[in-house]
Amino acid sequence: PRLFVAADLAAGVNLPLDRAQANYLLNVLRKGPDDPVLVFNGRDGEWRARLVQTGRKSADLQVAERMRVQTPRPDLHYLFAPLKSARLDYLAQKAVEMGAGTIRPVITRFTQGERVNMERLRANAVEAAEQCGILAIPDCPEPERLPRALGSLTAERVLVFCDEDAPVRDPVRALREAADPSAPPPLAVLVGPEGGFSEEERALIRARPNTLAISLGPRILRADTAAVAVLALVQAVLGDGR
Ligand code: SAM
Repeated sequence: PRLFVAADLAAGVNLPLDRAQANYLLNVLRKGPDDPVLVFNGRDGEWRARLVQTGRKSADLQVAERMRVQTPRPDLHYLFAPLKSARLDYLAQKAVEMGAGTIRPVITRFTQGERVNMERLRANAVEAAEQCGILAIPDCPEPERLPRALGSLTAERVLVFCDEDAPVRDPVRALREAADPSAPPPLAVLVGPEGGFSEEERALIRARPNTLAISLGPRILRADTAAVAVLALVQAVLGDGR
């Protein structure tokens, strides 16, 4: 198992576990003394630790050796219009699993859930990082309105705009033309809300230079389906080094 710990990591450091973490290791995974557990804190790489049971329901981890050096946060921004909470959990986890390093809720005209539970979003992002094996903790900035979110993207960052009204053509080729796979530029992906983008918003998005509007096929996908589809496409075409 891999656990995120908010503590400095070095050989010999003793990490007291909170009740939830102790219960997960001892009772859910039924780990015993000396079973190895991997820990990371988002900045010092990944370390192997020993599980030391200190009570019926309590345990510590003793950090032993570094297994992987720290790797940077993937430089892929995932911009999305927040959905209702259960699907937002799913979206946050899939975005991290599929290579997004920055998860950015964007408030648009037809966004359903204006009030985003950022603590929950960040917790889902950390949980996905634990599960999928990345070492950096995804960045989840506060929600922004669409114009501000677009304005915050640097000029060279290619924005892949998932547009169900874009002509259905080869998205792989379109992506290859917009972002050289041998030297991919910084990337961002934008998926709209269940109610879609307004016409003004579309115009704003398309007006931005370095925006690639792509269709993900002739069917209308739910926003969380579109998220996984476009991130899988980006990973497939532009490699996994991000
Ligand atoms: N206009 C849609 C409709 O008629 O129901 C509503 C938006 S769709 C449910 C949610 C979002 O997923 C869209 O804003 C778009 O970003 C993305 N999306 C859905 N289907 C897509 C497709 N075929 N190609 C590209 N993006 C798509």
